[in-house]
Amino acid sequence: APYQVVDVHELLDATLVMFRVKSAGVRVVKEYDRSLPSIPAYAAELNQVWSNLIDNALGAIGDAGTLTVRTGRLDDQLIVEIADTGPGIPEEIRPRIFEPFFTTKPVGEGTGLGLDISYRIVVNKHHGDVRVSSVPGNTVFRVLLPISPEEP
Ligand code: ADP
Ligand code: MG
Repeated sequence: APYQVVDVHELLDATLVMFRVKSAGVRVVKEYDRSLPSIPAYAAELNQVWSNLIDNALGAIGDAGTLTVRTGRLDDQLIVEIADTGPGIPEEIRPRIFEPFFTTKPVGEGTGLGLDISYRIVVNKHHGDVRVSSVPGNTVFRVLLPISPEEP
């Protein structure tokens, strides 16, 4: 599919709707900066990124906790943050989480491809970046996307 000019908030909301049942006991907080411009992007692929990150966040949260979806801007980059109150990413596995097939989940529950695919969609297809910071109780995946009138 060709790229489209998208409002990331619409994409995020559409993805959150799909997780409504799964996140029944989780508080979902949206901190959207509605003044952000629409950006050229591959909508279906970006939805896959939000879906992977939200799935991981909900998995980390378990039965109770908070999922925060935040948007903002830093110079010419649009920022989307998916944050969870789960246990965090242990220091020793942190360097490996973006590797294909790396998973700490039981067989059948995780493919280990979510972050690999997400990274490639953001970095290779959109010339953006994915960063992570994690301490117990606060893990944040930060996706940076160029705000530009050009194709992605
Ligand atoms: P999968 O979800 O299939 O395991 P991913 O590529 O999505 O594969 O994630 C790889 C691993 O990174 C997970 O198995 C988990 O160990 C770690 N991880 C990813 N997101 C989080 C998170 N929000 N909190 C804690 N650990 C995470
Ligand atoms: Mg995953």
